[in-house]
Amino acid sequence: MANRKIWLKVLTVIAEGGGEALRTPCPDCGQFQLELRYIVDAESRIGHALFWCNECLHGVTVSRVRAPKGIPTYTFGEPAAMEGVPNLIRHE
Ligand SMILES: [Zn+2]
Repeated sequence: MANRKIWLKVLTVIAEGGGEALRTPCPDCGQFQLELRYIVDAESRIGHALFWCNECLHGVTVSRVRAPKGIPTYTFGEPAAMEGVPNLIRHE
């Protein structure tokens, strides 16, 4: 099973590539079901990232990160921000 370090590495690759998570296989189960979501302050684009697999429900959360330019984000308090986020099995 992949550890947090590997998950963070995959997150970085996806973020730098524009946020298209579905093209990358899950580090735990290998399915193409990854989802990356930034929930940030609208002005600074700083907030946290949720990154998980919709197949095996493993994932990581990262706090105090800045969403890269061009990546769609949700803002704090926006009801849709947490919509559809499963109860993750987090790699701490
Ligand atoms: Zn998975």
